Amino acid sequence: MTRLDSAQWQRLMEYLRDNHGAICRQWFEELEPVGMDSGWLEIQTATNVQQNYLQNKCLEPFNEAAQHATGALVGVKFVSETTRTASLKQPALIGGDSGKPSSNTSIPRPLPDHMVGDYDAEPMVLSPDYSFDNFISGPNNRLAYAAAVAVADQPGTAYNPLFIHGGVGLGKTHLLQAICQKILNANPDHQILYVSCDAFMNQFFECVRNGQMSEFHHRYRHVDMLVIDDIHFLADKERSQEEFFHTFNELYQRDKQIVLSSDAAPNEIPKLEERLVSRFNWGLVAQVGKPCFETRIAILRAKAELRSVQVPDDVLELIASRIDSNARELEGAITKLIAHAKLQNLPINMDLAREMLGADAPAPRNNQVTLQAIIDAVTHFYNVKLQDLQSRRRHKSITEPRQICMWLARKNTRFSLEEIGGYFGGRDHTTVMHSIKTVDARSETDATYAAQVQQLNQQIQAQV
Ligand code: ADP
Ligand code: MG
Repeated sequence: MTRLDSAQWQRLMEYLRDNHGAICRQWFEELEPVGMDSGWLEIQTATNVQQNYLQNKCLEPFNEAAQHATGALVGVKFVSETTRTASLKQPALIGGDSGKPSSNTSIPRPLPDHMVGDYDAEPMVLSPDYSFDNFISGPNNRLAYAAAVAVADQPGTAYNPLFIHGGVGLGKTHLLQAICQKILNANPDHQILYVSCDAFMNQFFECVRNGQMSEFHHRYRHVDMLVIDDIHFLADKERSQEEFFHTFNELYQRDKQIVLSSDAAPNEIPKLEERLVSRFNWGLVAQVGKPCFETRIAILRAKAELRSVQVPDDVLELIASRIDSNARELEGAITKLIAHAKLQNLPINMDLAREMLGADAPAPRNNQVTLQAIIDAVTHFYNVKLQDLQSRRRHKSITEPRQICMWLARKNTRFSLEEIGGYFGGRDHTTVMHSIKTVDARSETDATYAAQVQQLNQQIQAQV
């Protein structure tokens, strides 16, 4: 096997960054070229999850980059230490993520040939991005996060089943995959079956049709952990519910961990049999909610770091103040910002962020005051900068307009005390409450001050 020289490797990485920036991640730094052999460039990954992910999701860009860097018609093969000795056959049945060499017994038992690929057109591939390290825990998801960690530490005993529910883009799939990855890190032998509810149902009907129910039972009932994403799709599906009921019982009785995600709490899933609702409630039911302002900033920062990109704090704050729906949209905004900067060869700053958000962010609803309008009015009136308002400075010339901003934000927007405090320099909700009381109290005794506050209030309200 010939070695790849370091200049070629650098060229390969640079080509990826320049042409396929969207797939590049900080953990690519852990990749190592092993060498070239008979037209193949072998690249070693730190874990099996990385290997499986790159092989399934990033092969084409890497092939292109390898051909560019070497000037030869090479194909890329990803290997981890485990897979250099044995090949994984079934990506949906995951096993081995230790990065350590392990014996053949740690390789998941391949499924019978006729089950491989027949039903899994799109096998569920774990994303190395979806780890606990990359998950931001905040008031909106603290219980779900803690429970997920506990389950990963003690599968089958901590909470069984673990049922995580909440709206789209709030981190359910991320948590499910983080549990799988943490368990596999600690114990590569753990047999985990991670599927979407759709895949479960499709495989079930396929097996019914082909008279392969014993294979189906074998697949679903002989695992150490069953993880099913978006279980709410069982709504209305009587036969699938029946089958899932027996799968659940079999695993539960043998203390095998079951983890489920759903867009609604068990008793809110339409037409879900009572016996399933009650079983889903046996363990722990935890909700994930919308992230607050500070959590949104932390999520944005984490997503930028994952892409090895520095984004200034004021830009993160601007995005977090404009996008409050869910983490998926936040991630979309960061990805787009990075792409814009790259395409136009511009620095990531407030101008670029405003341009991007202006064009695309959900327009403020007609009858709603935005934080930006408040800030514009107050900074102009008091001749201060937003950075000062967000700083720790306690000089009266800064605290007074800051308090008025908080008062105006509370009166005119739907942001919580916590969010308002977060925006104005990471202050907690008691500080915001105190500011509001201060403005009210002073308005009672100081007519000029009261008139100023009212004037600002009318000014921002007149804009909507
Ligand atoms: P869901 O399954 O609830 O629809 P996902 O788990 O697919 O949502 O999350 C959507 C995106 O948002 C993913 O990229 C995920 O990493 C990210 N995300 C969601 N919540 C968080 C969080 N608390 N910390 C970091 N990233 C998050
Ligand atoms: Mg999901």
